[in-house]
Amino acid sequence: LVPVVAVVGRPNVGKSTLVNRIIGRRQAVVEDIPGVTRDRVAYDAQWSGRRFTVVDTGGWEPDAKDRAARIAAQAEIAVATADVVVFVVDGVVGPTDVDEAAVRMLRRGGKPVLLVANKIDSSRQEPEVAALWSLGLGEPYPVSALHGRGSGDLLDAVLAAL
Ligand code: GDP
Ligand code: MG
Repeated sequence: LVPVVAVVGRPNVGKSTLVNRIIGRRQAVVEDIPGVTRDRVAYDAQWSGRRFTVVDTGGWEPDAKDRAARIAAQAEIAVATADVVVFVVDGVVGPTDVDEAAVRMLRRGGKPVLLVANKIDSSRQEPEVAALWSLGLGEPYPVSALHGRGSGDLLDAVLAAL
């Protein structure tokens, strides 16, 4: 059985960019979940010779209405069906109320969670991620999904958590 890694977080933090980084240029769709294609999409991935499925989700928002609520529900399903959760926040913006609400949802899921501080495009920005310890998810992984910075260390940690 191939392990499943779910990528969740609020809108615009770079989840899909990170997923594309993880799967490389292939962007091979393993499985489109019917009817919710844009909201929860699974891709085949590999790192250090280990295969896994990475699931991209729509932006999770608490107390969302209508379509946003369905997207949030899909993110919660992704968490429920994952072996490891990659929780992405904007490392430049720092922790928001929405991030804190997402953490409460993740705690209910009871899955191992890795905290990614995305958009850390240079080493100069790295001290900013210390603010994310307040989320209570342990050490934040500074990553630039756009440029690939830190993604190898993140993937090593993902495999270690599987
Ligand atoms: P999603 O809504 O969480 O899936 O976010 P997207 O992957 O669509 O990215 C939202 C925006 O953030 C896009 O304009 C990306 O180019 C940008 N972005 C994503 N990752 C990074 C990053 O590591 N650094 C910077 N500077 N921008 C990023
Ligand atoms: Mg996206």
